Amino acid sequence: MGLTLDEHGRPLGSLRISVTDRCNLRCQYCMPEANYDWIPRSEILSYEELALVAEAFAELGVTKVRLTGGEPLIRRDLPTFVSMLSDMGRFDDIALTTNGVLLADQVSSLTRAGLNRVTVSLDTLNSDRYLRLTGSDQLSAALAGIDAVVEAGVSNLKINMVVIRGVNDDELADMVRFGRQTGAEIRFIEYMDVGGATRWSGDVVVSRQEILGLMETEFGSVVEVSSDKRAPANRFELADGTTFGVIASTTSPFCGQCDRSRITADGQWYTCLYARSGFDLKAPLRRGADMGAMTDLIRARWSGRIDRGAEQRTIDPQRGTFVSVSELRRDPRLEMHARGG
Ligand code: SAM
Ligand code: SF4
Ligand code: SF4
Repeated sequence: MGLTLDEHGRPLGSLRISVTDRCNLRCQYCMPEANYDWIPRSEILSYEELALVAEAFAELGVTKVRLTGGEPLIRRDLPTFVSMLSDMGRFDDIALTTNGVLLADQVSSLTRAGLNRVTVSLDTLNSDRYLRLTGSDQLSAALAGIDAVVEAGVSNLKINMVVIRGVNDDELADMVRFGRQTGAEIRFIEYMDVGGATRWSGDVVVSRQEILGLMETEFGSVVEVSSDKRAPANRFELADGTTFGVIASTTSPFCGQCDRSRITADGQWYTCLYARSGFDLKAPLRRGADMGAMTDLIRARWSGRIDRGAEQRTIDPQRGTFVSVSELRRDPRLEMHARGG
């Protein structure tokens, strides 16, 4: 079957599955509010249903799948789902994005089941700061999770750090040193005005340009290395060979190459992180649509895709928070923790 291309010629390439919208942390840039409305449990797709969705995307050319959330490791029996994906034999990459707190206990069963890439989100190495940033005193558990990934021999471990001015922008060099010690590649992420980031303001975004300047001041020469054009991060190398990445989603978005789809835990498909509404895959699935019907639906929707959400945000002179708290209350799927980051 030929490639399924959208209106800008972008193929369907990667799929992020948010297996739950619930989380054991409350990161200030993602879930800063006191209370949240959750997707009702009866609406959450079973692993069998999610596997059917993943297979339909694989039929249309998706080769990479990433499990995310909320915190994916709080959903029970995640290794069972990883095995189901792995047994399909359709994916080159089965990856996980996690805050790492529950990783130490689960990493061996996940890798045995077929997980082959792990990204841990970690924004600070300071325990007081971690508590302030996440609302939870669990830095040591997250670090134990990172150690366990290294021990399990997972190659390509990445650590994502959302950089926020006045919060953790004094830790970039320490984070690179930590990555060097552990063998993980650090990826600095520009703070995005997306979903539940209701405290976002342009003043606290630390841009790629600034991040590179800080790296040069600390380490000397910084050279860009070639990277996969469809990957969100630009990668750079220091004189000693240490590499790191920068994901400049806010100041220099990469919509032109974006091949990503996102599925919420209740089977809504979002073709952009900034999309205001999704496409319901749960209803046809629960009505018993077969694989041919599911792929027809997905192909038709993707063919008409024109999303360039982050690029459009850069030209908004009034740029501020993307959606208000009241809109988020009306539709929790607008939250980053529902659509998986
Ligand atoms: N709970 C898991 C974790 O934190 O890794 C997976 C879900 S989380 C929504 C996925 C990614 O989104 C994390 O790396 C997180 O740092 C990132 N993220 C959340 N809100 C963000 C924001 N406002 N700007 C940039 N990245 C954000
Ligand atoms: Fe933090 Fe991830 Fe939870 Fe959001 S979903 S609060 S980024 S751990
Ligand atoms: Fe893709 Fe939308 Fe993100 Fe642009 S903003 S890179 S189109 S998900």
